[in-house]
Amino acid sequence: MKKLIIANWKMNPQTMQEARSLVSSFEHRMHATSTYTEVVICPPFVYLPALMHYAGAISLGAQNMSWADSGALTGEVSAVQLKQWNVKYVILGHSERRLYLGETDSVVNAKIIAAFKHKITPIVCLGGEEGAIKFEMKNLVTKQFIKVTKDLDKRQLEKIVYVYEPAWAISTMEKSEPATGEHAHELIEHIYQLLEHRIGKTSRMVRVLYGGTVNKNNVHEYAMYPEIDGALVGAASLDSENFWHVVSEFNREAIHKEKI
Ligand code: PEP
Repeated sequence: MKKLIIANWKMNPQTMQEARSLVSSFEHRMHATSTYTEVVICPPFVYLPALMHYAGAISLGAQNMSWADSGALTGEVSAVQLKQWNVKYVILGHSERRLYLGETDSVVNAKIIAAFKHKITPIVCLGGEEGAIKFEMKNLVTKQFIKVTKDLDKRQLEKIVYVYEPAWAISTMEKSEPATGEHAHELIEHIYQLLEHRIGKTSRMVRVLYGGTVNKNNVHEYAMYPEIDGALVGAASLDSENFWHVVSEFNREAIHKEKI
């Protein structure tokens, strides 16, 4: 199974030209790592048409989408519309959408169902919620997992990319602090256990990632654990050198693991 490194650009950069030059600054390098690592770029919607031609060396993802296919939903973008721009993945349940835009578990669940209907792979964030505190993360992740995966079948549960991303570890949060590798690993193991209860042994074939201030200085802490299948990267994904370090470190670990 390939490692997965997902760039969440959020509401950046400010121009289409910058978006293009950011992707072209690392796109050629991705060919070298593509055997073991898949890179997904999630830009703001408006840049998707300009970036769709890069799909191949990289995959494209959206940062959100509607639970509906069409209709009177001002400002929303549907899975049907995203498919036109070669979008393969969509980030759902990000803590910024929960904290600032009132997204709830049941909305996330409806969006996951809509993504599957249109063959877009959901990247589901677990661990972000108002007041999330470090020593209660297992309870929060369990609660979110149960609610956002309601009514999903085994095949769908296997296909989701899960990300343990505690709100307090996101680089832009006040008093932010990245999770230690040990903590990330422990919570990722917890997600595997939740999955095992629902789908049995195949849970180990599912991809579970970590997100929260991953960058070139700390990536080794996470990449060293074979159970951590990759990272969701925010701020560091806007700097091509920094992002390249993250990709190549996970790639190196994947090669190393295959050799032993
Ligand atoms: C994110 O918000 O998804 C994220 C991973 O951000 P950062 O890496 O900046 O903490």
